[in-house]
Amino acid sequence: MLASPLTAAELADIRAYEGPRVVWFALSTPVQLAVSLAWLRWLVRPLYAVSEHHAGKLAAWQASSPALRALASAMDRVWRGPGWGAALLFALYDLLLYQLLFLPVDVYLGYVHEHAHGLSNHTPGGFAWDLAKGTAVHAVFTALLAFGLFGLARRTQRWWLLLGIPSALALLGAAALDPLRGQLYFEHAPLPPGPARESVERTLRQAGVEATVVVEHTARATRKLQAYFAGQGATRTVVLNDALLEHLSPAELSAAVAHEAGHLLEPRWPRRVAGAVAVLGLLWLAAALQREAARRGAWGIQEPADIRTLPAISAGLLLLTSLGEPLAAWQSRRGELAADRYALELTQDRDAFAGMLVKAARVNKVDPAPPRWRVLAGMSHPPISERLAQVTSFKPAAAGR
Ligand SMILES: [Zn+2]
Repeated sequence: MLASPLTAAELADIRAYEGPRVVWFALSTPVQLAVSLAWLRWLVRPLYAVSEHHAGKLAAWQASSPALRALASAMDRVWRGPGWGAALLFALYDLLLYQLLFLPVDVYLGYVHEHAHGLSNHTPGGFAWDLAKGTAVHAVFTALLAFGLFGLARRTQRWWLLLGIPSALALLGAAALDPLRGQLYFEHAPLPPGPARESVERTLRQAGVEATVVVEHTARATRKLQAYFAGQGATRTVVLNDALLEHLSPAELSAAVAHEAGHLLEPRWPRRVAGAVAVLGLLWLAAALQREAARRGAWGIQEPADIRTLPAISAGLLLLTSLGEPLAAWQSRRGELAADRYALELTQDRDAFAGMLVKAARVNKVDPAPPRWRVLAGMSHPPISERLAQVTSFKPAAAGR
């Protein structure tokens, strides 16, 4: 019944779509690491020289206004000296230049390729606007991090502990803000009354999950199906996108929601504690890296809390996360299969679950049986073929006796 869910033509289309994505999947980490090394070798010094030059011009300009002069002297006090302007500019230029370098890949894979395969509804303007919004959020975050982390590091060697403990705690609660992050890009609206809403609410009741159900209007950007749970406690939300409501039957929507509910029942504390420990460990490593760079006088720096160590910290983070990715992906795939099992137990509806998986593969153009190396290297979800095999072997309670 579930043996061959996709036609040969559909499979060929999916493979054509996946081709360039697989190539970039294989190349992105080595390319990014190589770029980071070149960056450290050749770019840090000139980029800092430009930042200092521009900061000097800005300082001359702000000296002409009493309000700006007061602001600048307040910043001097917080930073314990001048130089915060060059530090902020350096962090921002570093971010923007790096993004600019990978812009062709982002535009090709995110816009051109998606359009060529009929998966995107983005207008050029809409795509550019989304990209700009993402960059702006990133820039604000980078500026706060540069000022906060390096400002603190200028005061105490134990900055990693002082910054790490509140960051680790914030990480534990950050999930509550998830629904807001979604709304930065897409409008959320309540799921209108009808069979879809009844089915979804029944499933949530069966699972004993209290959550608001919203529709995310992603149609201006993409045709892909998407469902996720966001938030925690009072902000817990089931987010279904408009494409999902268009393509799935009420029973298939329930299957998707039951799968998401399965994720909510995963033990959270081990992951949260691991995340908090990882944050502290990474900041400690960053502090060690800063001290080592200062000892060697790398990039002309004399003290550890110099902004010129930021690209090295980013490169170290990139290296560690790419080494950890296969392990994280393996853990994630196990969680996905467990959520599938939970959904099957809850709904007892194999056909709806299989239907949901096959439609997702068809509409989103997901290779049902990708090469093994790709799965092991970092796929967060098991191949559809593996998930369908689990559905087929599942014995509904009634048929089991
Ligand atoms: Zn999942």
